[in-house]
Amino acid sequence: MTMITGITGTPGTGKTSASALIGGVLDLNELIRGEGLYLGIDEERDSLIADMDAVYDRVCEIARGGGGNLVLEGHLSHHVSDSAIVLRLAPDELERRLMARGYSGAKISENALAEAIDVILVEAVEWCDRVYEIDTTGKTVGEVADAILEILDAIDRGIEIDGYEPGSVDWLESEASCLVNFDYGR
Ligand code: ADP
Ligand code: MN
Repeated sequence: MTMITGITGTPGTGKTSASALIGGVLDLNELIRGEGLYLGIDEERDSLIADMDAVYDRVCEIARGGGGNLVLEGHLSHHVSDSAIVLRLAPDELERRLMARGYSGAKISENALAEAIDVILVEAVEWCDRVYEIDTTGKTVGEVADAILEILDAIDRGIEIDGYEPGSVDWLESEASCLVNFDYGR
């Protein structure tokens, strides 16, 4: 049976960058945009409202047609995957990255808060059979890609792997979350 693995995480945690190094990873946002798998546009967030039923059907179809296990990346990928690899990044560093990307204050604040309170991790635990967590803080893109490859290899071989247990990251206990200013007032 083909397994579907999603590389997920709050926008800005480095999913696309690490996936580019790994290769053969399907960009779920690109699929949604390219194939029109959305219900409408969220004007306030300036983003597409994905049709998750259609996305799930299409991803299963691609998984059935492919040779081996399918790997997806995107902040929605854990909704349609058997296993999830959740990339985490200290909220203050995430803030700096999203600022550099030119995101609005509201969007930066929403994402930094979501990262601080583990929104995607909690969703992944709810939706997926297996969840792995990588703290990417201070890691290069290459180091993150290597960690993902190590997990993908363990999934392929059906073996247990240590060091990526869900719940191992806790920003509220760390200095990083104290630096985040959640009130951008916009
Ligand atoms: P995502 O796909 O999760 O939204 P990206 O891969 O697009 O994130 O990365 C967001 C920004 O952070 C980009 O400008 C990218 O160059 C930078 N970035 C990604 N991974 C790292 C890393 N490990 N170290 C430093 N900068 C990174
Ligand atoms: Mn991306």
